[in-house]
Amino acid sequence: MDFSTGLRSAAENAEDPRTRQLALNLAAVHERIDRAAQAAGRADRPELIVVTKYFPAADVVRLYELGVRDIGENKDQEAAAKAAEVGDMGGLRWHFIGQLQTNKAKSVVRYASSVHSVDRPKLVRALGNAAARAVQESIRSQPLEVLLQVDLRDPLPDDQRGGAAPEALGDLAAAVAGTEHLQLAGLMAVAPLDSAPEPAFERLGELATSLSQDHPLATEISAGMSQDLEVAVRYGATRLRIGRDVLGERPYP
Ligand SMILES: *Cc1c(COP(=O)(O)O)cnc(C)c1O
Repeated sequence: MDFSTGLRSAAENAEDPRTRQLALNLAAVHERIDRAAQAAGRADRPELIVVTKYFPAADVVRLYELGVRDIGENKDQEAAAKAAEVGDMGGLRWHFIGQLQTNKAKSVVRYASSVHSVDRPKLVRALGNAAARAVQESIRSQPLEVLLQVDLRDPLPDDQRGGAAPEALGDLAAAVAGTEHLQLAGLMAVAPLDSAPEPAFERLGELATSLSQDHPLATEISAGMSQDLEVAVRYGATRLRIGRDVLGERPYP
């Protein structure tokens, strides 16, 4: 399916200037994804998650009207408020992609379909308990999808910055797989700030291959942001998390 053609005609027909801008930006990003997938010789097409942090619920609604169904957020307080404001929109999925404190697990499971940033056993337990409770209270019916975030800095420094050490992934994956109401879906990473993304994403692909040997259903690779989308697609990303190139520069607080 050709996303960009439809989006360009949506842009022409939109009266609201912000909708027009979002449609054009989305069309451009979809074209980049198509070109990158083609250049990589991939038969599948990576999914686009639009990261709306710092932008209002009204933009989520505009994106939904343009066909976007996957929204990414990195702070619980902001995401919870936005999800409440947007309300029930059929098929809309919220992806939590930021560092998560265990005391926020209860809140996140109320609106998120997926958490991409699981990086320690304590968080697995907190999410498992919160998801079980939410199912009991009929707040959710589906299991919570979990991706393990891996820290790809090499060598790995001591400062805990979000992401498990590659060596810790096996145990972490087993913990998720053994927890009711959690569903292990794959790996997530952010390219290191101070080095080229290629070796990092290549490594991520290898770690994902090894994870899926023990967990055949855990095949997702969440990688690629506005500036490294093409590299991520080349190394097998199945989900791209794009903010800036769809929504524009973030207003810094
Ligand atoms: C903000 C954010 C993104 C999107 O980054 P852009 O550069 O705006 O595309 C992706 N992943 C994570 C974890 C983020 O926090």
